[in-house]
Amino acid sequence: MSPDRWSFRGSHPCARLLSEGHDVICLDNLFTGRKANIYNLMDYKNFEFIRHDITQPILLEVEQIYHLACPASPVHYQFNPVKTVKTNVMGTINALGIAKRVKARFFLASTSEVYGDPKEHPQSEGYWGNVNPIGIRSCYDEGKRMAETLTMDYHRSNAVDTRIVRIFNTFGPNMHPQDGRVVSNFIVQALQGKDITVYGEGEQTRSFCYVSDLVEGFVAMMNQDEHVGPVNLGNPDERTILELADMIIGKVGQGKIVKEPLPKDDPARRKPDISLAKKVLGWEPKVSLDEGLDKAIEYFRKRVEAGDF
Ligand code: UDP
Repeated sequence: MSPDRWSFRGSHPCARLLSEGHDVICLDNLFTGRKANIYNLMDYKNFEFIRHDITQPILLEVEQIYHLACPASPVHYQFNPVKTVKTNVMGTINALGIAKRVKARFFLASTSEVYGDPKEHPQSEGYWGNVNPIGIRSCYDEGKRMAETLTMDYHRSNAVDTRIVRIFNTFGPNMHPQDGRVVSNFIVQALQGKDITVYGEGEQTRSFCYVSDLVEGFVAMMNQDEHVGPVNLGNPDERTILELADMIIGKVGQGKIVKEPLPKDDPARRKPDISLAKKVLGWEPKVSLDEGLDKAIEYFRKRVEAGDF
């Protein structure tokens, strides 16, 4: 089962599990997800959708729970920060409660945001992070840190079989054109002939992983039987935001960079150390940024041409 939002990250694992013949129940409150992302899944007899907000309790009989609930774009998670905290705390307690009751294996989609504005580079799982507890990103960063704490406590105190992955920046088809994150913003701006909004000087870095690689990591983590601690999933190919802008402008064939103020607490550098994922999951990303951007541009071009955003 996949009690998640069918945001772009939720729709991909659903598709993958259905294609392997699993029964999938997808939970989403449709705050940032959209039904169109799963229209193609509705044809599967083994797929069920429940419109439900995981901050409210629910009981389901399932063997596995992928808990992906929570908007991941700063624009969306800052829109209603208290709701973001509730989703990460109450939502995670509710999801873990189901796992405990029906003895399901529980998977938490955590985030590189637990490292905050990191003082260690690249970030490995042993690093405890540098997080502002009272800033505008805290609802998400601290929310996910608490979700990890809850997951470990249910594991230690209630013997729930848990898996935690820390997801670094991800992109790909099914992202909403108004998602607000950098890859979708730049591509949609370029396609529309608008200015490319680089925040700050654009010297900050991120490492972008294509969504199909991420989903392979999810499934590998869920299906390995060892209880290993949190595992980073991301592409270690670190780029500055200016580099990303230049790549997208080059591929789309238009776009002019404009500088806008850097949001508060914006991490300066981010790059995953994926040695643990390689060792315990035999996982590493296969899709290059170049190839992934081509696929993402193709997807967003269709949305923009259809006026669907
Ligand atoms: N960013 C930018 N222009 C945009 C959106 C984001 O320059 O239109 C920058 C943002 O300041 C950050 C980086 O791109 O440094 C990644 O931002 P995103 O919101 O995608 O993810 P996160 O900050 O959570 O890693």
